[in-house]
Amino acid sequence: MDELLNRTLTHAQTFIDSLPTRHVGARATREELLAALKAPLTPDGESAEAVVDLIASQGDRGAVACAGPRYFGFVIGGSLPVALAADWLVSTWDQNPGIYATSPLISVIEEIAREWLLDIFDLPRESGLGFVTGCQMAHFTCLAAARHGVLRRAGWDVEADGLHGAPRVNIVTGAEAHVTADVALRYLGFGTRHLLRVETDDQGRMRADRLARLLDNLTGPTIICAQAGNVNTGAFDPLREIAAIAKAHNAWLHVDGAFGLWARASANEETRALCDGAELADSWATDAHKWLNVPYDNGVAIVKHAEDHRASMTTSAAYLVQTSGVERDAVDWVPEFSRRARGVTVYAALRHLGTRGVASLIDGNCARARQMADILRRDPRVKILTDVVLNQVLVRFGDDDDLTRRVIAGVQKDGTCWLGGTTWHGLAAMRISVSNWSTTEEDARVSAEAILRVLNENS
Ligand SMILES: *Cc1c(COP(=O)(O)O)cnc(C)c1O
Repeated sequence: MDELLNRTLTHAQTFIDSLPTRHVGARATREELLAALKAPLTPDGESAEAVVDLIASQGDRGAVACAGPRYFGFVIGGSLPVALAADWLVSTWDQNPGIYATSPLISVIEEIAREWLLDIFDLPRESGLGFVTGCQMAHFTCLAAARHGVLRRAGWDVEADGLHGAPRVNIVTGAEAHVTADVALRYLGFGTRHLLRVETDDQGRMRADRLARLLDNLTGPTIICAQAGNVNTGAFDPLREIAAIAKAHNAWLHVDGAFGLWARASANEETRALCDGAELADSWATDAHKWLNVPYDNGVAIVKHAEDHRASMTTSAAYLVQTSGVERDAVDWVPEFSRRARGVTVYAALRHLGTRGVASLIDGNCARARQMADILRRDPRVKILTDVVLNQVLVRFGDDDDLTRRVIAGVQKDGTCWLGGTTWHGLAAMRISVSNWSTTEEDARVSAEAILRVLNENS
């Protein structure tokens, strides 16, 4: 065991050391990886050392360096060393944190991590909170609580009676809601055909005036899904206005804050103001694997009305020894029964960074995003399509879809950095997302210069 784990540590160290300088994309194709990894399953197996060496050797060529400083694709955080180390302990302990009885340690750590998260986001301290796989499952959890809550107020017990014959629930989302919110609504039996979409503005923000008009014509239980951090632009829906409209109509307000909720941890007043009013919502979905930079997978579901949250998630069975005291049973707050002890890496990251450390992670990334936008926009062929308010930048080249796509493909091939594309209001665009603790000013400069170099080669 000693030797195997030491060997694995060396492999891990080699991978981590390569991150700042290696080609950022994967270097092996599916065929090459299959050739290296595929073999008939043997009756007697192979040595543990051989298996670990094989996997590690392919990690170097088949993995994407998204844990490194020059990966700007999607919205993908890195791993703080303290969080990675804590994650190793989580695997080592192999706890099942479903209930207090199966792991007092994890129950207590998650109880504390819950309090710290509510403090750092400055959300109602009585809220229920669960650690899930990611924001999609955080949506599922929050919206299950919302479904329970709005139907309970309408005199219907959805947990016992299901949706057949239930009062119709109006679901209102922004026209640019993240697809994962739709998926969660689908899982919850709402379907997607009848979702009511509210128009967004030129930055991708839900228009509060249109929402108000829509709600004036609706009756019955209503759930509104708003967004803190548009996946393309980083823009925030006007949450304070939306919360007032939701309150006036007795609607449940859910906020997708996958990465944007972390703006509330910023030390910069302007950044914090983006997410002003979020505290007035009923539920919030966010990720720790994005902007807190803990390893995958790690999402967080927060529900102000803890009783609706618990009622929608809790499990009981004769053989379970659930607590009746103050001890925390995770099964009350998440869809999973057995699960990974996700709260541990959150605890480690928050304890290590402190509130100021979290703020500088967020604010540092936002500064790097502005820096890249500023370097790029000096070139007259470059257009930054929306305001850079957070860590996201949308870039278009030569006002030309083709050229923009060629530059994106060229940058991916070049390997200095990695980023992806999108279509923004009908226009092809490059997406830059700065979400990694280790991205330095130098990384941002070198990456922006690589983008301009590829632009020159293509124009
Ligand atoms: C990434 C993202 C999600 C989905 O999060 P997962 O952790 O991948 O499930 C939802 N909403 C927004 C705005 C996102 O950026």
